[in-house]
Amino acid sequence: MTDRHHLLTATPIIDDLKALRETLWFNEQVKPAREGLQRVGLTLADVQEAQARLQRFAPLIAAAFPETAASGGLIESELIPAPDMQAKLAARAPISGRLWLKKDSHLPISGSIKARGGIYEVLAHAEKLALAAGLITLTDDYSLLLSPACRAFFSAHKIAVGSTGNLGLSIGIMSAKLGFHVTVHMSADARQWKKTMLRAHGVEVREYAQDYGVAVEQGRRAAASDPACFFIDDENSRTLFLGYAVAGLRLPAQLREKGILVDADHPLFVYLPCGVGGGPGGVAFGLKLAFGDHVHCFFAEPTHSPCMLLGMSSGLHDAVSVQDIGLDNKTAADGLAVGRASGFVGRAMEQLIDGCYTLSDASMYALLALLDQTENLQLEPSALAGMSGPQRISASREYQARHQLTAAMMANATQLVWATGGGMVPPDEMQNYLARGRG
Ligand SMILES: *Cc1c(COP(=O)(O)O)cnc(C)c1O
Repeated sequence: MTDRHHLLTATPIIDDLKALRETLWFNEQVKPAREGLQRVGLTLADVQEAQARLQRFAPLIAAAFPETAASGGLIESELIPAPDMQAKLAARAPISGRLWLKKDSHLPISGSIKARGGIYEVLAHAEKLALAAGLITLTDDYSLLLSPACRAFFSAHKIAVGSTGNLGLSIGIMSAKLGFHVTVHMSADARQWKKTMLRAHGVEVREYAQDYGVAVEQGRRAAASDPACFFIDDENSRTLFLGYAVAGLRLPAQLREKGILVDADHPLFVYLPCGVGGGPGGVAFGLKLAFGDHVHCFFAEPTHSPCMLLGMSSGLHDAVSVQDIGLDNKTAADGLAVGRASGFVGRAMEQLIDGCYTLSDASMYALLALLDQTENLQLEPSALAGMSGPQRISASREYQARHQLTAAMMANATQLVWATGGGMVPPDEMQNYLARGRG
């Protein structure tokens, strides 16, 4: 208790968090990738297995969601340069190298990064049930599972999840498509349109007046009393994490296609909005497997919900919440409105995450409007959290010195902002976001 008290009072970074100051924190525990990867408890083979599973499901996804036909049923997003945004930002503070965006905001099916982990875990569960029941073999065309007989089989099974919105959308839409009875436990911050859309897909939505932690707990409890119900645990799931990690293994080919080099002289910086940590943690894991020490991964959080920065910097991980230091966990970045980080991700990635930073809701809104103006790209507030990272790292002599990054290397850098959501935001809602950002 005294230790805990000490950690939460005597650390300067905690004072910044309490004061809601925008903060940049570097992880002292970071290790060379080779070493840090040992701690994760998962391996390249695990991510490759996830990748192979997504490949087996590709014919089903292509058949069930025609918008994925062009990519052969793979759920993947575009990588685009953002020169006009870079020029606009540079007027205030320069960005070394070139600014790129990873458009997970426009992933098919659910329009956010959750279309990676969430959908993957539903598919992994469906495959397990279907193999055990003899409905398919590993070499079959999995679109067989869309037959009325298979749907009837899945309808005897239930899936539950707690969510601030986007995970619910991904899991709800995918589960309902296969025929599962699916319940999404939604926190107070979840947007109304996400609940309405889910109900239109035949998903049961339960609403809570409290935050994400309570919604997850309620979902967990409901599922625990029902043996036919599978609970998808956003706070601890290795399966979700592996679904996200596949993104990291796919990125090298995508960069190569764009003629982008990543090596010791051409560093890659990636900025990932962080809620509970599974999404950014999984992607960062995949990236470290793919690029080793040539990739630098930073997590971005709202000043009102810096759960991962708090957990990692204090070493308390899921034993501390932002409420414990007097913060309210209220933010317009609903995908990031999480008060307590995943204990699994914080510990697993303890030696691989290069740093975390916070930014205010006002900063996210301003960046949202700026991106619309410069690149004609519309995102939800959460998805802008990564956007202030490149300027901060470009300005940090401390970070560059620590990693022996010379000016020439920084000039060669690829600054990749992971745009995590917004593709399905209704037009009127987007107009409100833009109006706030311009104001
Ligand atoms: C969920 C979410 C994140 C962060 O993912 P976590 O797994 O919760 O850390 C980031 N951006 C958006 C838009 C999200 O919905």
